[in-house]
Amino acid sequence: MKIICIGRNYVDHIAELGNERPEHPVIFMKPDTAIIRENAPFYYPEFSKEIHYECELLVKINKEGKYIEEQFAHKYYDQIGLGIDFTARDIQARSKEKGLPWETAKAFNGSAPISDFISKEGFDITSTKYELHVNGELRQQGDTSLMLWPINELIAYVSKYFTLKTGDIIFTGTPKGVGPVNIGDRLTGTLAGQEMFDFEIK
Ligand code: MG
Repeated sequence: MKIICIGRNYVDHIAELGNERPEHPVIFMKPDTAIIRENAPFYYPEFSKEIHYECELLVKINKEGKYIEEQFAHKYYDQIGLGIDFTARDIQARSKEKGLPWETAKAFNGSAPISDFISKEGFDITSTKYELHVNGELRQQGDTSLMLWPINELIAYVSKYFTLKTGDIIFTGTPKGVGPVNIGDRLTGTLAGQEMFDFEIK
């Protein structure tokens, strides 16, 4: 399986990092070794001094497809979840400066904690809300209605370049409020009020 991540999909987050509003979705990937499941702790890596959380809605692909039309994209996933796109912001800043790729900043071991997946039935996927609390304090509030490219458009776009396969996961981008984590922090994510993950930084 593969993990496809969308960058810069919320205007307010683009503004907070001083990035340009992209013409097309920004896409990068993480390997399966990035995944952390079942609230296992995240171990702060020695190669960064500035690991940021980015809480994101996840979509799990349920059948193979490429060049998926937007109008049929909803048939390619029936489960959603919540995850963190951990980012070594210091490494990413150096990569951006030099025009280098982002893998060491974004795709390192443990950089993708994910929740269990739940059925999308009962959710209006075009206006689903989610939140991230750090040590009990609200840090991020997402609302899929504020995405620059809604989920079905993302699936159509991504599948032009990469064949989507059963089990692939899409990280759909983060809203504003990203920030650093420290050893000892506890990250708790909720989707439509339901707790999805709760894990510690070690
Ligand atoms: Mg992200």
